[in-house]
Amino acid sequence: MKPSNPPTSKKTQSPTSSAPGSKKKFAPVNPLKSPRFGDIATFNRLPYVPDLQGNEVDVAILGVPFDGGTTFRPGARFAPRAVRDSSVLNRNYNPHLGVGVYDLLNVVDAGDVSTNPINIQATMQSIQARVTEVHQAGARHICVGGDHSILLPELRAVHAKFGEITLIHFDAHNDTGDSAWGEKYHHGTPIRRAIEEGLIQGPRIFQIGIRGPLTSATQDDYILEQKINVLDIDGFYDLKKRDAFFERLRKVAGNKPCFLTFDVDGVDPAFAPGTGTPVVGGLTSFEAIQSVRRLKGLNIVGADVVEISPPFDHADLTALLGAALVFEFLSLMALAPKPKKA
Ligand code: MN
Ligand code: MN
Repeated sequence: MKPSNPPTSKKTQSPTSSAPGSKKKFAPVNPLKSPRFGDIATFNRLPYVPDLQGNEVDVAILGVPFDGGTTFRPGARFAPRAVRDSSVLNRNYNPHLGVGVYDLLNVVDAGDVSTNPINIQATMQSIQARVTEVHQAGARHICVGGDHSILLPELRAVHAKFGEITLIHFDAHNDTGDSAWGEKYHHGTPIRRAIEEGLIQGPRIFQIGIRGPLTSATQDDYILEQKINVLDIDGFYDLKKRDAFFERLRKVAGNKPCFLTFDVDGVDPAFAPGTGTPVVGGLTSFEAIQSVRRLKGLNIVGADVVEISPPFDHADLTALLGAALVFEFLSLMALAPKPKKA
């Protein structure tokens, strides 16, 4: 069968996938029936199912085409389409984590969040409402941004459902900045705003890949005050420090809900050139993916990959990395305990 369901249908009649071996209702289209370069692009060639109620969806992947929060190079609004295109090579089984994603999870492409390209407040409300819908339907969510300003409304929705969470944050930047040009909300401030709103607490935030010059010697004071856990790039390449950081993360997270946010500029621009605020000297793609796999067993209830800017990409390197990360997120979710229905 073809992947497309009518967007208005309340229920999907029958298994939409002919993926070999899949026992689930929703899974990617069988590439032997329709080659990977064919059909209308959806995330991982999954069925397009925007209406989640009554559809037994475990994970909804949402595009968030918005870059109104960028302060330097824009373009992240084009990422959901680029990642959909690059995700056609994502297959079904993750041998590194030993998990058949679609044997365990019903996953759908739930379409894009409705955004307003010139109104960040309206867009944040829309993101929060849509992510809330996903969790009310008993599903987890993965957002493909969009710039990093989309994190705040995601956290508002996740906090309303789960309360205290642990935040795992890959990035070159701490995103604990304050207002710029008089604006409180942009892609450099979501962590500070989330702390101020009581959505997360510093000791439950774990940042990986931080590097690069600061505005001043005191820019880090806020991070120290808030007791945010930071594994900067020097720490990352000190294996003892890296192990200790992940051990502490696992201890703090326990089996409680975790949110994983991945700013693609955490990866070196040699591997991820298509981004708005590149910083040289970062993780390789492999190190990034390997670090995500270290989160196996954590209770990941939501995740995103942000700051992919296709107009600055080369040979789809960054979009391809984004698509690969989404597959790793799904693998982690397949191995996490199932959330209770609302
Ligand atoms: Mn960044
Ligand atoms: Mn960021």
